[in-house]
Amino acid sequence: MSKHFDIVIVGGGLVGASLALSLADLPCRIALIDSQLPKNLSELGPKTLNDYSKRVSAITAASSSLLSDLGVWNLVDDSWKQAYRFMKVWDQLGSGELRFDADEMHVDELGCIVENNVMLAAMHAKVSESQNLECFWQQTVEKFEGVAEQADGVSLMLSNGESLSADLLVAADGAMSGVRQQAGFEMREWDYDHLAIVATVETERSHNNTAFQRFSEDGPLAFLPLKNTDKPGRFSSIVWSLKTDRAKHVLGLSNSEFCDELKKEIENNLGDVLNVSERASFPLRQRHAKRYFKESVVLVGDAAHTIHPLAGQGVNLGFKDVAVLSEELHRAIAEGVSLSHPQVLKRYQRRRQSDNLLMMGAMEGFKRLFGQADPMLRLLRNTGMSWVNRQGTLKRKIIEHAMGL
Ligand SMILES: Cc1cc2nc3c(=O)[nH]c(=O)nc-3n(C[C@H](O)[C@H](O)[C@H](O)COP(=O)(O)OP(=O)(O)OC[C@H]3O[C@@H](n4cnc5c(N)ncnc54)[C@H](O)[C@@H]3O)c2cc1C
Repeated sequence: MSKHFDIVIVGGGLVGASLALSLADLPCRIALIDSQLPKNLSELGPKTLNDYSKRVSAITAASSSLLSDLGVWNLVDDSWKQAYRFMKVWDQLGSGELRFDADEMHVDELGCIVENNVMLAAMHAKVSESQNLECFWQQTVEKFEGVAEQADGVSLMLSNGESLSADLLVAADGAMSGVRQQAGFEMREWDYDHLAIVATVETERSHNNTAFQRFSEDGPLAFLPLKNTDKPGRFSSIVWSLKTDRAKHVLGLSNSEFCDELKKEIENNLGDVLNVSERASFPLRQRHAKRYFKESVVLVGDAAHTIHPLAGQGVNLGFKDVAVLSEELHRAIAEGVSLSHPQVLKRYQRRRQSDNLLMMGAMEGFKRLFGQADPMLRLLRNTGMSWVNRQGTLKRKIIEHAMGL
């Protein structure tokens, strides 16, 4: 016997879980499937350097507003959120830099750094309260059918042998989406031959609520400020993107050698790097689905697009997908249209694809521009940065876009 749902969401990560919450008020039966167990807020304790999860996100104002509407943001205690009021972006060995200040924007903060696990735990707590959502934790989709022409819905089998069917299947299962691969979506993708090294570090000087981003020919390095009550201002999360060969070398350094190298790379902005947690690394690839839907299957978040993490936009784009897909599905229900009707999914695709493409193009442009050793180009980009830094209106436009406003 197969259990029928109106919507099945595969992937209970940041994007899938928030989509489930934003659809929970529909008169629909919705299933959420994830291969992991749900995260639990009460298991997240006081913070020493090694307690922080390696994956943190810079959350824009647009995303925190969505999370507030879903009742998730207020579950994330203030002691877990580090607002940043300043941002400093510069080119290594150059003189140009860009500085952003929340006061110039007439806002309290430019964004907030939060650990992914903390946001997930808050979302999973909300998901478990909802009557309309049925969760299948620690389950994967073994196989599914129904993406052929004229297919009416999909049927799928879980790893525990259970059969489900759905009018609409949402793939929110991340960058390596199995649903996307099984359904045969075509992708545009390329490898950066870069690894992103992530870790938590303790620094001699306070981050002073500042996010730092330094570009160099080897790749960008970000220091994102973390909240810590014992040592306020001293902890940051780093994302250091390097060519694979150099990244492997850096990953093999001892802790003290790694700290010395980082201090040099961040040009001593935070004094000595005193301590580093265990390090992790992720291969960087840019991917974008040529289409976001195929019959009754639709892609959201990293399943549809993965972007270089240099400006911390990945999950923020995913949250924008959530807002638009949710709006289109609410509209379909209100108008009595089938959830997988091509017009419904086409509208979602049209509204999101161009915005995602724009951000991906901008990130690619930044990466290439700052990856050039040519002295003439270096002079141009440094002069350009200093010029932009003096243009109040243009600077405001840039930061408004980065804040998702
Ligand atoms: C180093 C690094 C730093 C980043 N920093 C930022 C940042 O500062 N700001 C930002 O906006 N973005 C950032 N990103 C990007 C961001 O992490 C991703 O865009 C975001 O996590 C995507 O969310 P998602 O829910 O789409 O996918 P995921 O987070 O990958 O979640 C997918 C979910 O699907 C589940 N799943 C996978 N396969 C299956 C299966 N077969 N069956 C069932 N469940 C399955 C997984 O368990 C997981 O819960 C960064 C990325 C990297 C690599």
